[in-house]
Amino acid sequence: MSRPNFVNIQGTITLKQGRDHSVKRFHPWIFSGAIQSATETLQDGDWVEVLDARKTVVGFGHYQKGTITVRMLTFGTDKPQADLYETKLKKALQVRTEAEVISDQTNAYRLIHGEGDGLPGLIIDVYHDVAIIQAHSAGMQRDRAQLAAAVSKILTDAGFRNRAVYFKSMQEKAASEYLTGMAAVPHVVLEHGNKFLIDWEEGQKTGFFLDQRENRKLLGEMAKGKTVLNTFCYTGGFSVYALQSGAKLVHSVDASEKAIALTRKNLELNGYDPTTHACAAEDTFDFLKDKKEVYDLIILDPPAFAKHKDSRHQAVKGYQRLNAEAMKMIKPGGIIFTFSCSQVVDRQLFYDTIVSAGIQAGRQIKVLHHLSQPADHPVSLYHPEGEYLKGLVLYVE
Ligand code: SAH
Repeated sequence: MSRPNFVNIQGTITLKQGRDHSVKRFHPWIFSGAIQSATETLQDGDWVEVLDARKTVVGFGHYQKGTITVRMLTFGTDKPQADLYETKLKKALQVRTEAEVISDQTNAYRLIHGEGDGLPGLIIDVYHDVAIIQAHSAGMQRDRAQLAAAVSKILTDAGFRNRAVYFKSMQEKAASEYLTGMAAVPHVVLEHGNKFLIDWEEGQKTGFFLDQRENRKLLGEMAKGKTVLNTFCYTGGFSVYALQSGAKLVHSVDASEKAIALTRKNLELNGYDPTTHACAAEDTFDFLKDKKEVYDLIILDPPAFAKHKDSRHQAVKGYQRLNAEAMKMIKPGGIIFTFSCSQVVDRQLFYDTIVSAGIQAGRQIKVLHHLSQPADHPVSLYHPEGEYLKGLVLYVE
C-alpha cells in the first residue's frame, strides 16, 4: 500500500494559555488575540499547524493576517492528507443527496457552505452541469485549481455531468476565470420544477440566491388566488413560484434595472406574461407609498442592511421602517414574508425589530412561521455564526 500524501505545512501557530477552549470545541476561527507566537515567514494562504500552550497539536488550517488569523480545516493531531478537499466535497455532496436537496426537479444547489461543511472560506454553488467557486480566504483562493479538479471529479464520480468550473473572484471581474471547461451564460436551471436563468459572470453573488429555495416553495403554497407584491425581487424567484401556484396578480420590484430585466425573462421562461405581471425598476420604499390595501401578500427580502457590527443600529432602523410600511399598507387578512440576511442581526434582534414595526403600524399581527436557510446551507453546531438567514411569515389582521 502506498503511504498517504500530506499537505505541505508551512508554519506553526502557538496559542496563549487558556485560549484553546473554542478550537477544542470545534469552533473553526483562531482570532489574532489568542495567538502567543507564529512562524515569522508565514504568508497569507499558508497551511499552519496550531498548537496549544502545552505544544499539543489541536488542528490545521489556513493562515491569513487579520482578525481571523487561522481558519481551521481539521481538528486533532492527524496531519491533513492531500486529498482532504476531495474527501470533504464528497461528504458534502452525500449530505445534499441524503437531505433530498438534489432531485429531477432541482439541479441548482450549494455544494459547499464554508464552515458548515468544514471548509471555512469556501463557497461552491452548482448550477446543473456548471460549478461556481468563490473564495473568501487567501488559502482557498490559492488552492482554486485543486478545488476545481476535486469538484469536477466528485460530481462525475457520483454520476452528475460537469461541464465547467468557474472561479468567481470576490475582488475584480478580471480575476474570474474558467478553471475547467467552458459554458455559456445565461444557463437554465431547475428549482422545484421552475426554470431560472443564471448568469454567474455578471450576476450578484454566484448568480442566484439558492438560500431562499424552501421559503419560495412555502410562498407558492400560500399564494393561490392572491395579489402578490415581491419587493427586492432580483431574479424574480418568489414571483415565479407565486404564479406557478395560481396567484391572481404578481408585481415585482427591484432598484436594479438588470434585476428587473432578468425577472421579466424568468417570468417569460416559465410561461407568464411580464406585461400583466408588472415588473418595476424602483426603490421599494418609494413603491410602497400610495399602494394602500392593494396587496394580499408581500415579500420583503432586502439585501443585508448591515455587513458589520458598526452598522447594526442603522440596519435595525431600516428593517423596522420597511416592515412598518408594509404592515400599514397590506390588505386586512394579508400575509407578509419578511427576511433578514444580515449575519450581525441575529434571530432575536430581528424578531424584536419586527415587534417594534408592528407596534408602529398599529395592527394585530400573528407569526405563522419562523424561516431559515435550507439544508444545503448547513450550520456547524459549534459555529452558530453560520446561521444568517432569518424569516417570519406574518398574518396581519
Ligand atoms: N429575493 C431575491 C433576492 C434579493 S437580493 C431572491 O429570492 O432571489 C436583494 C435585491 O435588492 C437586489 O437585487 C438589489 O438590487 C435590490 N435592492 C437593493 N436595495 C433596494 C431598494 N432600496 N429597493 C429595491 N430593491 C433594492
